[in-house]
Amino acid sequence: MTTRVPLFIAGEFTQSNSQQWIDVTNPATQEVIAQVPCATQDEMDAALASAEKAFQSWKETPVSERARLMMRYQALLKEHHDEIAEILASETGKTFEDAKGDVWRGIEVVEHAANIPSLLMGETVENVARGIDSYSYTQPLGVCGGVTPFNFPAMIPLWMFPLAIACGNTFILKPSEQDPLTPTRLAELFVEAGAPEGVLQVLHGGKEQVDFILDTPAIRTISFVGSVPVAQYIYRRGTDNMKRVQAFAGAKNHCVIMPDANKQQVINNLVGASVGAAGQRCMAISVAVFVGKAKAWQSELAEALKGVKPGPWQDKNSAYGPLISPQAKQRVESMISKGEQEGAQLLVDGRDYKVEGYPDGNWVGPTFFSGVKPNMSIYQEEIFGPVLCAIEVDTLEEAIALVNANPFGNGTSIFTSNGAAARKYQHEIEVGQVGINIPIPVPLPFFSFTGWKNSFFGDLHAYGKQAVRFYTETKTITARWFESDIEASGPNMSIDL
Ligand code: NAD
Repeated sequence: MTTRVPLFIAGEFTQSNSQQWIDVTNPATQEVIAQVPCATQDEMDAALASAEKAFQSWKETPVSERARLMMRYQALLKEHHDEIAEILASETGKTFEDAKGDVWRGIEVVEHAANIPSLLMGETVENVARGIDSYSYTQPLGVCGGVTPFNFPAMIPLWMFPLAIACGNTFILKPSEQDPLTPTRLAELFVEAGAPEGVLQVLHGGKEQVDFILDTPAIRTISFVGSVPVAQYIYRRGTDNMKRVQAFAGAKNHCVIMPDANKQQVINNLVGASVGAAGQRCMAISVAVFVGKAKAWQSELAEALKGVKPGPWQDKNSAYGPLISPQAKQRVESMISKGEQEGAQLLVDGRDYKVEGYPDGNWVGPTFFSGVKPNMSIYQEEIFGPVLCAIEVDTLEEAIALVNANPFGNGTSIFTSNGAAARKYQHEIEVGQVGINIPIPVPLPFFSFTGWKNSFFGDLHAYGKQAVRFYTETKTITARWFESDIEASGPNMSIDL
C-alpha cells in the first residue's frame, strides 16, 4: 500500500479525511512513493485553533527553555542527518551528497535559533530625560505561516519555523506537495526534541491551503519561497489582508568572468554552480558573462560540461539527479528549443538525455548556450534546469550594466584576481548576494538571505537578525520612578540610595 502522508495538528500525526490526494513520485522512475492530502477546511481550522491555543502558553515559556528546545532539535537533526538525506534524495532525486547539504544548511539555522536569548535582546538608554529611562523588548506576534518550494525540502522549512518558534510564536507550515516526506520527518524529530503540543502544525495541499493561510486574520505573518508569479500573488494578497509578508522568488544569477581570473578555477566552479542539483537552485549560476579575452574559455567550459553525467541518487558517480517532474523536464526542454530557434549557439545539448536502467526519469543533460543576447527568452526567463547561457562583453562596466538591467537580484559572482575590479563590482552591483571568487554566495545563518528586486518581495529577509525582527514586535518603554514614593512607603523602607 502507498504511504499516505499524515497532517501534523495539535501534536498528533493524523490521517486526513480529504477526498483529494496528490501522488508523490520518485523523479528517477515515476514510481508513486506516497500520497499527500489536501487538508480539509475542518483540518485547517483545527490546526489554527491548536496554534492559537499553544501560543498562550508558549509565549510565556522562558527564552532559555525555548533555546534548549532548539539545542535538542539541532542534536537530533545531526544524529538523523543521513537518514533525512535519504528520504530527501528519494523524493527529490538529489544526489546523496547534495541531499546531505540541503539538510546541513537547515541544521545551521537551528543552531542559530539556539542563540535566541541574545538575538532577542532589546535596546536601553538611561536618562533620556532627567530621571527617565527608555528600553525596548521584542515580543512574539502570535501564529505565523510558511509556504515552501520543492527544491530544498529540509533547508527552507528550517529557514522558517525554528526561528519563528524560538521567538515565542507558533507556526503553520504548508510544504511543497511534491516532496512532503522530508518536512514530515523534520516535524517528527521536532516532537522527539520535546516541542510542546501545537507550537508547530504541518498542513498539506496546494493553493486552497495557501489561501487559508493568506486569508485567516489570526495568522500574522507569511513567509514564502517559490516562483515569481506565486510570490507576487502571496505578497499582494497577504499585504492586502494586512499581514507581514516576506516572499522569496525566482532568479537569474550572473557570474562575471574577468580575463585575469584563474581559468581552471572558473571552469570547475561554473560547472558545479550551473548544472549541480540539475540547476534547480535559486542561487544556481544561469548566466556566465565573459569579459574581454575570457571569451576564449567557452570551448573548454563546453568540454567540461559534456563530461558531467546525471544519474540516480544511489549512484555515487551521479553528478546530479533528474528534474522534479515530467512537466519540469518538458518545460526546460522546450526552453532549450526556443533558445536554438532564437539564434543562440547550442554548444552542449541536454535534450533527450538517457540514463541506463532509468528510462522514465526526468533527465535533462548539461546544456550550454553561447552567443546569448539579452532579448532572448532563455536570458529573460528563469529556466530552473541544468542550462548555462553565455554572454560576451568587452569591459567590466558593460558587465555591471548588463547585470543591473536584469529584473532579478538574488545572487551574482565575479571571478577575478584584481581587488579593485572586485571592489567596484561588489559596490556597484544591484544584487543582494555577491560572491567574489565564490560562485554561490549563500550567506550563513548569522547573516540573512538577502535577495533583491524581483527575487524578493518584502522588507525583512530570511534567517539572521532580520528574521528575528520579522517574527517579533518591538515594544519600547519609557519609565520614570519618583524618589518621593520611596519615602512615602513607610517606616520599614530602609534602603540606602
Ligand atoms: P512554486 O511557486 O510552484 O511553489 C511554491 C509553493 O507555493 C508550494 O508550496 C506550492 O504548493 C505553492 N503554490 C503553487 N502554486 C500556488 C498558487 N497558485 N497559489 C498559492 N500557492 C501556490 O515553486 P516551486 O516550483 O516549488 O519552486 C521553485 C521556485 O522557487 C523557483 O522559481 C526558484 O527560483 C524559487 N526559489 C527561490 C528561492 C529564494 O530564496 N529566492 C529559494 C528556493 C526556490
